[in-house]
Amino acid sequence: MKTTISNGEIKRQNRIKTAQYIFEHRMVSRQEIAAALGFSLPTVFQNVTELIDWGMVCESGEYGSTGGRKAKVLKIREGFRCVAGAEITAHHVRLILMDLNWSLLAAEQVSLAYENSSEYYEALGEQIDQFIRRNGIGPDNPCELIGVGISLPGIIDHDLGVLRQSYALNVMNVSIRLFAQNIHYDYCFENAAGNAAYAELENKQNNTIYLSLNDTVDGAAYFDGELYHGDNFKGAEFGHMILVPDGRPCYCGKKGCLDAYCAARVLNKDNARTLDDFFSDLEEKKAEAVQLWDEYLEHLALAVSNLRMAFDCDIILGGHVGGRMAKYLRELETKIRRYNKLDLDISYIRTGRFKKESSAIGAARQMVDRYLSGLPVF
Ligand SMILES: [Zn+2]
Repeated sequence: MKTTISNGEIKRQNRIKTAQYIFEHRMVSRQEIAAALGFSLPTVFQNVTELIDWGMVCESGEYGSTGGRKAKVLKIREGFRCVAGAEITAHHVRLILMDLNWSLLAAEQVSLAYENSSEYYEALGEQIDQFIRRNGIGPDNPCELIGVGISLPGIIDHDLGVLRQSYALNVMNVSIRLFAQNIHYDYCFENAAGNAAYAELENKQNNTIYLSLNDTVDGAAYFDGELYHGDNFKGAEFGHMILVPDGRPCYCGKKGCLDAYCAARVLNKDNARTLDDFFSDLEEKKAEAVQLWDEYLEHLALAVSNLRMAFDCDIILGGHVGGRMAKYLRELETKIRRYNKLDLDISYIRTGRFKKESSAIGAARQMVDRYLSGLPVF
């Protein structure tokens, strides 16, 4: 059956795309928006005027002139809404508050050991409430909170609303409603690696593979601006690709998984030392650290090369190790060249900008997307 979309709905969708573009790119001109979204300039002028009148967008200076009238810089107005992000881990909740210009207003980590109990879920809601209140958000503050994006470490079945499996939390098949029942704001849930990837994406439309090199190795894939979940929400579990047949045992029960070779715990020796200590030893060229790093990069090179062959797109190395990887990329490149004869260099690899807050920031960004996609008619 043919469905028709009203003119009002088309206008609303165009306004949503304009608002999303300004949020994603932070500082833009009307001309850039028109070129990027394929809108006519009059359409963009109308959308922007409506968003300015509504209080969401403001003009902030001018671009340098290239002849003719200077283009005005557009951005989200200071003080227009804020958003929270929460990353749930086995022993902590990491909380962030940011505005819609991507400025981090607050970041905290609170101790809260996960257990599947009503006491935990009550405490989670209370911690989120307290964090938001501590940072001055409430009925008296005009900076209205649009919601809380939440990261969970595991496979989320969005159809059933269930955390299907989480090794980190040591649970299976827990309803998302339990996590949400004491949250007094709008919310959304996504898995931790998907959110971390989302925080790192500079251009949503670029296809991107994200490899999270943390205590575990996790992954995410964004294709055409959307997180790829797979048919059963198990997509992009790169940490459990077999790298070495019958190799080192992995916590998942298999042998030879990427996780067993490239998780941060390989470097910090299951927390016998800190990751900072390891990288200090590496800087000082201590033999044990140099050899361990060489083996680590060998396995990482193999995994990255395979991912590049499979997906032919940008690859971000994130997490605690990925965030420290920038100065070692040449070393990694030398190893990748042995496996990859199709690419001239490794300019498709980028290292993560965020070490600690990526998952919570990505969760907040998901929440903003949800908010903007529901912009009202005005
Ligand atoms: Zn595994």
